[in-house]
Amino acid sequence: MGYNVAIDGPAGAGKSTIAKLVAKEKGYIYVDTGAMYRGLAIHFLKKGVDPEDKNAVAEACKDAEVTIGYENGVQQIYLNGENVTGMLRTEEVGNMASKTSAIPQVREKLLDLQRSLAAEKDVIMDGRDIGTNILPDADVKIYLTASVETRAKRRYDELKEKGEDCSLENISRDIRERDERDMTRAIAPLRKAEDAVLVDSSDMTIPEVVDEICSHCR
Ligand code: C5P
Repeated sequence: MGYNVAIDGPAGAGKSTIAKLVAKEKGYIYVDTGAMYRGLAIHFLKKGVDPEDKNAVAEACKDAEVTIGYENGVQQIYLNGENVTGMLRTEEVGNMASKTSAIPQVREKLLDLQRSLAAEKDVIMDGRDIGTNILPDADVKIYLTASVETRAKRRYDELKEKGEDCSLENISRDIRERDERDMTRAIAPLRKAEDAVLVDSSDMTIPEVVDEICSHCR
């Protein structure tokens, strides 16, 4: 059994930035589960599936295979053998992932992949339901959050840096909608596990958050 650190929290809380740095510091493998949902979302977008049509999404899951690999220590996502890593981080893909991740067949599709990675390796795994559902016995559980304003500004800066056309207003609205969907869905909703450490990064620097989380880890 690997040593497992679960890090959950809402969209834009900085989970991936922080988890990558903690992974480097501690020698864990970083597993980004949101990227797996985004990989499946690309499949649905390619097929023109309506995310509100649960049966169509469930059906489309049958001919999708999401796998994970590492290139120079950086996680890669493969959809039916194609490396789609460069296509994952757009608002369109994020919204499709958020809508379809509430559908049981979508979650089932990714569950074994996530659990088997954690069983084999020392990992820091980020997502929404890692501490509550995927790895309930994780060695360390962190719930990382920040205010909606802070998260929207971070996402805006990230997209601008990549040259994407976006507005702060639209991003704030998307984040609120995504929080609502992630927190109120019937299966595996986003919530803090009882035994998770709460870290609110709104007024913290990145090194402060990394230090705080590392202090709880082996
Ligand atoms: O974290 P990220 O924004 O990449 O995740 C995309 C979407 O995938 C989230 O909005 C969430 O709905 C879903 N997700 C999930 N469970 C996870 C990780 C992501 O439902 N463990």
